[in-house]
Amino acid sequence: QVAANMTVVDAAELAGRLPRRGTFSHKGTYGHALLLAGSKGKIGAAVLAARASLHGGAGLLTLAVPAVGYAVAQTAVPEAMCLPDDAKNHLTTLPDLQPYAAVGMGPGIGQHDDTRAVLEELLCTAPAHKVPLVLDADALNLLGANRPLLDLLPPDTVLTPHPKEFERLTQPARNDYHRLELLRDFASRYRCYVVLKGAYSCTATPEGHLYFNTTGNPGLATGGTGDVLTGLLTALRADQRLSPLDATLLAVYAHGRAADLAVVHTGQAGLTAGALPHYIGVALQELT
Ligand code: AMP
Ligand code: MG
Repeated sequence: QVAANMTVVDAAELAGRLPRRGTFSHKGTYGHALLLAGSKGKIGAAVLAARASLHGGAGLLTLAVPAVGYAVAQTAVPEAMCLPDDAKNHLTTLPDLQPYAAVGMGPGIGQHDDTRAVLEELLCTAPAHKVPLVLDADALNLLGANRPLLDLLPPDTVLTPHPKEFERLTQPARNDYHRLELLRDFASRYRCYVVLKGAYSCTATPEGHLYFNTTGNPGLATGGTGDVLTGLLTALRADQRLSPLDATLLAVYAHGRAADLAVVHTGQAGLTAGALPHYIGVALQELT
């Protein structure tokens, strides 16, 4: 059952999917991305995701963080505009979505009920703005803890759970094959793209196809690397030239490839999430 409809994603599979930057392109061409990230003690997750968005080619980036993160965001990521929330320690307000080409939510946000309400409003209002969503980390945990929200997921949303987060969204898997069946069923039922992260990250499409990634290494098994993927993916979802599938496959591949390039210099144990964004540009360039 699982064996049908599977593709191994290598550089050849992605050939031609990432257009070159046109000579007369401008920041509008690549889209204005919005990231909703961070809470007290986890502003670093917001910074990592934001840097990854910028290194992933976002035309413009706005980073919404709780007030406690404002000075940090403006200092650590001067290229991004910052929307500080009225609340000090967690997100309580959804920005007007009108300016944005894609929205990513989740890294470091925590699971406060106010933040759950922001997620719910995001799910309800995104379709009217035709703005694609990327959901990760505590956005997924909030969905798992409030499953009726799953029925609000806009079609073509991209979710990036690691196995524990995926289990919270669904059920414990009996084994790896069962987990892939659950993955395919979930993506079909909610008409979403779901990236089950780990070695050979697997992306399931709404049509039930599975794509296995071939880049990355155990150096990625360290805090913050998932936040980097979320930022990169949000940037590629904001790029008007890319389909949801191509943006997802390209982001997952380039994220792993960045890690493969990085460990040449750092070794696997020495890889930090903060070092990854610097290699994203080269990883993407190799695909053009
Ligand atoms: P997170 O658990 O959200 O921090 O995400 C971890 C990221 O690192 C995901 O993109 C995983 O695919 C990647 N990753 C973790 N462990 C490995 C591994 N052993 N091999 C390759 N990639 C990994
Ligand atoms: Mg994570």
